Amino acid sequence: MQEKTIFQKIIDRDIPATIVYEDEFSIAFLDIFPVAKGHLLVVPKKPYAWITDMPDGELGALWASVKRIMIAQKKALNAHLVQVNIVGDQVPHAHIHLVPRHSGANYGDLTTHVQYEPGEAQMYAEKIIASL
Ligand code: 5GP
Repeated sequence: MQEKTIFQKIIDRDIPATIVYEDEFSIAFLDIFPVAKGHLLVVPKKPYAWITDMPDGELGALWASVKRIMIAQKKALNAHLVQVNIVGDQVPHAHIHLVPRHSGANYGDLTTHVQYEPGEAQMYAEKIIASL
């Protein structure tokens, strides 16, 4: 059997994550190394390596979740927009980055990271959950 990816371990609750959303097909949690506070990853529950490996129906369900989460994120965090990125350089389990951005943000900068104060990540998660 293939070794579980870090995201599969989060899905299976083998390791913790700050989860904000979950349904039959997808799960969303805070990125542990965010480029902006409230940066989320939306992940299919099945371990497809790439978005392009997903059957259209499941991909449609994933994007429906993405849309719902983006609306909640924008509202909860009073963001100017939510930036959508698909990278996949580090984790071989399909995922979509949702980065809340405020005006003046450098959208091209995906390498400068921010750090949460103690308890702040949970606060961001709770705000997003309350807007879903
Ligand atoms: P990518 O594969 O798209 O290049 O990047 C993977 C993303 O997953 C990175 O932004 C990284 O910070 C995030 N990440 C890696 N390991 C973990 C983890 O254990 N928990 C969480 N919540 N995020 C992770």
